[in-house]
Amino acid sequence: MRESASWLAPGRVNLIGEHTDYNDGFVLPLAIEYGCRASISPGPDGVLRFVSAQESDPVDIRIPALQPERVTGWAAYPAGVLWALDVDLPGLTITVDSDVPLGAGLSSSAALTCSVAGAANDLLELGLSPRELVAVARRAENGFVGAPTGGMDQLISMLGKAGSVLFCDMRTLDVRPVPFTLDADGLALLVVDSKAPHKHADGEYAARRRSCERAAHVLGVTALRDATLSDLDKLATDSEGEELVKRARHIITENQRVQDVVALLDSGRVREIGPLLTASHASMRDDFEITVPEVDVLVEALLGAGAYGARMTGGGFGGCVIALLDADAVDAASRAVAEAAGARGFAAPHAFVTSPAAGAHALDGSNAG
Ligand code: ADP
Ligand code: MG
Repeated sequence: MRESASWLAPGRVNLIGEHTDYNDGFVLPLAIEYGCRASISPGPDGVLRFVSAQESDPVDIRIPALQPERVTGWAAYPAGVLWALDVDLPGLTITVDSDVPLGAGLSSSAALTCSVAGAANDLLELGLSPRELVAVARRAENGFVGAPTGGMDQLISMLGKAGSVLFCDMRTLDVRPVPFTLDADGLALLVVDSKAPHKHADGEYAARRRSCERAAHVLGVTALRDATLSDLDKLATDSEGEELVKRARHIITENQRVQDVVALLDSGRVREIGPLLTASHASMRDDFEITVPEVDVLVEALLGAGAYGARMTGGGFGGCVIALLDADAVDAASRAVAEAAGARGFAAPHAFVTSPAAGAHALDGSNAG
């Protein structure tokens, strides 16, 4: 065992492809400049000690108690990573510090689990590949925390590339970096955190997953990835037909939009992705019904301020909105979202410019010993 190991793993925004991941479909996320640093070193015998700069108290877990459902609260995320490694553990101290806003839809959870997975792999000299670490981080959230996330977040946090969005096929887990350099075109990607409280997000997420599974079952396909618009008629006759048609239509059209955006980026036509981003938002609002007024109003304000396109990003029911716009329009757009939210009595949003950052990596100076 080494003396210590430290990793940094980023949060993410998804450029397009929402709720498509658990339908075996396509997503196009980018890693952002905010991330989580995790340091691990040998600790007290028989105990895993979790310390977060974002939490007031450390959490101690005795190693035999490292079991799903026995650990609750924030420490379940890093504890879940150690559990998912499925190896005999020594006593360890795990320290984390993140500048990804927690619960804002920027995937602070994947930043946390991926940074801990990378650091643990180095400290314990397990030799796991980045892809194996993706699986560990995902198992931690799905199998230990009990968060039914679809796998995109861990994939982009671990495998993100500076200057590129990552075109991910969530069926095969094949990924391809697609250049997304905005500066050269005088463009910017603005992220606006609505600060809206995530009301009922977990229950609604589970309900959307159930609808998608039911629609796939009715159509006799493995996942909605395999459905086409001409299948929608067949769903209409189901007892939940009206709802299934809308849910499936979002997934089918969204998968197409992801591929259309990739084609445009591949041919350097960055501005032209704007209408596809906006169409994605309309589909989430009207068909998948996962937006809330707090984010709809931000999208309208951004389009009104001259954005080429804007959409909610992330699972929905609050969270963040992104917009593609001219770099010199960023200030006016930031003012426009503040005014629009204020006029409706919503929380003051937080806007920041981002561009694709590197995926998870070891930090210099770690791994001594
Ligand atoms: P998101 O991933 O979009 O930020 P989640 O609900 O999936 O939202 O994950 C947020 C949760 O992850 C927090 O409530 C907390 O339990 C945990 N978490 C993330 N980062 C940290 C951190 N630095 N310290 C403690 N807990 C964290
Ligand atoms: Mg998360």
